Amino acid sequence: MKDVDLTALVLTPDQQAKMLAEAQAAHPLECCGLLVGRVQDGEARVRDVLPAANVADAPERAFEIDPRTLIQAHRNARERGEAILGWYHSHPSGVAVPSACDAERAAENGKVWIIMAQADMAAYVAVEQGHVAGRFRPLPLRVISPVKSEEAGDGNG
Ligand SMILES: [Zn+2]
Repeated sequence: MKDVDLTALVLTPDQQAKMLAEAQAAHPLECCGLLVGRVQDGEARVRDVLPAANVADAPERAFEIDPRTLIQAHRNARERGEAILGWYHSHPSGVAVPSACDAERAAENGKVWIIMAQADMAAYVAVEQGHVAGRFRPLPLRVISPVKSEEAGDGNG
């Protein structure tokens, strides 16, 4: 399966609220973090939202995820058979659309980008020839409550 064929990004209401709260708390700086989960049936399904420190030189107009968080998240995701689906960040005084700067930095195809501005949240996927900033296409965002299918803490080592 190619990630660029993604049809939707699936989040829980809690995950969405957590990201929006972070954007608000970080204002007037940009917040950022990682989306961890897996691709199923063409949908990027987020299991966890991992906040990261924004280590950009100018965090009021850019974001750079703390590389230590990124490395640790990659490792943990791999162990669980998951992946880093993408990342989120906020535009404190902009709109929830990728900027030219975001487009320049979208090195990997198939990554999901969530962008927040005030109470708005929108998702995009990085593709070679996207019609948004030349690098993205909008990805429908589905916010649904989780189905209780897994028992927590199975105790297996
Ligand atoms: Zn941006």
